[in-house]
This record gives sequence, C-alpha cells and structure tokens, in this order.
Amino acid sequence: SSAPEPRAPDLLASVFGFESFRPGQGEIVESVTAGRNVLAIMPTGGGKSLCYQLPALMREGVTVVISPLIALMRDQVRALRENGVEAGALTSANTPEETEEVFAALDEGRLKLLYMAPERLSGAERLLRRINVTLLAVDEAHCVSQWGHDFRPDYLRIGELRRALGVQVAAFTATADEDTRAEIITRLFDAEPEVFLRGFDRPNLYLAFEPKQKPREQILGYVAARPDRAGIIYCSSRSKTEALADALRGSGRAAMAYHAGLAPDTRRDVETAFQREDGLIICATVAFGMGVDKPDIRFVAHADLPKSVEAYYQEIGRAGRDGAPAETLTLFGMDDIRLRRTQIDEGVAPPERKQADHARLNALLALAEAPVCRRQTLLAYFGESGAPPCGNCDLCRAPGMLFDGTEAVRKALSAMLRTEER
Ligand code: ADP
Ligand code: MG
Ligand code: ZN
Repeated sequence: SSAPEPRAPDLLASVFGFESFRPGQGEIVESVTAGRNVLAIMPTGGGKSLCYQLPALMREGVTVVISPLIALMRDQVRALRENGVEAGALTSANTPEETEEVFAALDEGRLKLLYMAPERLSGAERLLRRINVTLLAVDEAHCVSQWGHDFRPDYLRIGELRRALGVQVAAFTATADEDTRAEIITRLFDAEPEVFLRGFDRPNLYLAFEPKQKPREQILGYVAARPDRAGIIYCSSRSKTEALADALRGSGRAAMAYHAGLAPDTRRDVETAFQREDGLIICATVAFGMGVDKPDIRFVAHADLPKSVEAYYQEIGRAGRDGAPAETLTLFGMDDIRLRRTQIDEGVAPPERKQADHARLNALLALAEAPVCRRQTLLAYFGESGAPPCGNCDLCRAPGMLFDGTEAVRKALSAMLRTEER
C-alpha cells in the first residue's frame, strides 16, 4: 500500500521548520491544496510564500511561481533548496549551468517549484505544456494592476497562460483595496476565485501621527530618541531624502538616501548595507520597498504624508517583521495634502480612477484625524471592524493629547478635508 499523504502540519515542521501557521495561512494552504482558485490578500510579512510553497509539496507535478523580482526569486529558491525542496528558477540572471540543471530536473520529473520571471512567460507556453503544471502561483499579484505603482506589463500574459494551460491559479498580494482586488480578479481568473482577506492587524506596530510643525526637527528628534535602531524614513521627493540623510549624518547617525534617481549599483549597495549593518537609517522615496526583506526594522517614519491609506499600510508594514515591538510615526501637513491632491489630479489615470485615489487619500486623512484608536480606524477600513481599542497607538496611550497647540492645525485640516471631499 502507498504511504499516507503527508499532512500539511507535518511538512510545515519537517520542511520549513515552523511550529504553527501564521493567521490565515492554514485555510489558504487547505484551499490551494484542494485545487481551488484563490486570491489571498495578506499583509507584508504575513507569510504568503508558504501558502503556495507548502501546497506545491502536497500536489503532483510542478507549481510555477510568477514573481516580479529576480533577487527575491533566487533567495526563495536558495532557501527552499536548503530545506531539501527541489526548486529552480528561470530568469535572465541564470548561468547556462543553472538553466541546464532546471531543465534536467524538469525532465526527470523531480522539480516541485519552478520560479519564472514574468518576462519569461512569452514563449513559455510550449515548455509549460510539456511538463505537468498543476498550479500557477502569482506572487505580488497587484503587479497586474495597470493603475498601481508596481504595474508590470508582462503580468498581463498570466491570464492567457492560465487559459492555455487550463490550470489552477493562486494569487497573492498585500494590496487590499477593492479596485486592485477587482482588477486582479478580472485579469487572472475567469470566475470569482475564493478570496481570503485577513490578518491585517500588526499588533506589534505602534501607530502614531503628528501634525507637521518643524518637520526636520521633529524627525531628527524622533531618530535621536531611538539610538542604534534601524529605520526607514519615507520622504515625498528625492531631494528631501538626500537632505534628510545629510542632516542625520550631521547629527551623528549612520544614514543613507535611496531613490529611483540613483544608479542601480548604488541602490543595491544601500539595500545590502541596510540588510547587513546595525542601526542604519534609510531616507527613501517609495522606490525603497518591495525588495526590502529585513526582519528587524525598528521604526518607519513618514516625513511626509503617504499618498493613500494602502501606501501607508504597506510602508509601515516593513517595520517589525520579526514580530518584536516596532514604532511608526507619520507627519502630515497642509502642503502634503495639496501635493497629493495635485499629483492625483495631474496624473494620467482615467477619471474614475482619480476619484478612487482621492478616496484613498481621504481615508488616510481620516486616519490622521481619528478621534479614537488608530488601529480600529485602520482595520475598519480594511474590513475588520469591531476590534477593541488597541492600547498600542498614540490615541490609546494618551487620549486627549491632540487638544493642545496642534488644535488649530487639526481644525484647518478638517475644514480642508470637508471642502475637498467629493
Ligand atoms: P510575505 O511574502 O507575505 O511578505 P514571507 O512569505 O516573505 O511574507 O514571510 C515572511 C517571514 O515569515 C519569512 O521570514 C518566513 O520565513 C516567515 N514565516 C512564514 N510563515 C511562518 C510561520 N508559519 N511561522 C513562522 N515564520 C513564518
Ligand atoms: Mg512575499
Ligand atoms: Zn489604539
């Protein structure tokens, strides 16, 4: 008689070395393993990779993983192999030997996970027909969204490929907003998939907002109060990242700037330094993000207001991925709000998308102005209502604190929010 099918919890421990599922993982693994089409929305650091890696081991055939970043693919393949899993990647960064090895493993029917860069999808159909693909896992599925900031045209081929192969799809993202969700569903699935949306609370993150008064002093003071801790400070422009990194170095802290205007190897150097050095601070635009996989970032501060509640959530979510306490602070001022509104109005998006972008900005302003617990407000926005006050945000810790010198700013903001609301 054949051996009993290995159960998910056994593999979780024996292959991945984890004691238990993180919130949400168990149900997603079950559904994917049962062969259903799935869209799973889980926060950054929530453990999405496991939700396709584990089912891949429980299924016959090969799971093809589409992922936008070659470096992350290679990391995952390396980690899987270290755990004894047959995995390989086909990317432009492969050596000929690596590619040979992947093909050999495919031919011998050994390979369980095949990572592919989206650029590789055109022309991959023949290869994929030849092998027994049972599951197409789409990581960072929001890259299929044409109006999102991570849009990757090659992701649009995934739908075709799925139809051509007639294969199950499991898609994963941390982007929760409804429009993006709807766009992912239309582009990747024929019928409504099973949608998982949960686990958005990150209880170890302290949430705080402050009106801008003297923003540079506010940030310098904040950083000075957190010696030796690694952190990210998000700024709204390239020049601000440079200026702030200079000021921080002037105050005796190790700090580097990061933005899309830097040469690719400079950017890589900054990423590596951040990963390896203790207590480094990166002053960055939103270009610093998807590839950052440092578990012990102790704070994320916004020197300027992010563009939406989703962007805010994704950016603060980079702190404290190790589960230990981490802090966040978001500064906001009238100029920010004007800037963000102008950016939306002057963008190339169609009118209905602009309206949605304004709504997401308004949701962030509502969070900045929340009268009670920020986390309740944030989670309610993501569809998790009814949470008790968290005890780990500025409003829970010091209720009524906003009624001081900042009251004038608050009132002005309220007025502005009301007049500009559509
Ligand atoms: P995401 O893609 O959702 O941002 P990852 O898949 O990169 O998250 O996982 C984040 C971290 O959590 C990784 O270091 C991973 O090893 C770890 N992790 C995932 N699942 C578990 C689990 N069940 N128990 C403990 N650690 C886990
Ligand atoms: Mg991931
Ligand atoms: Zn709270």
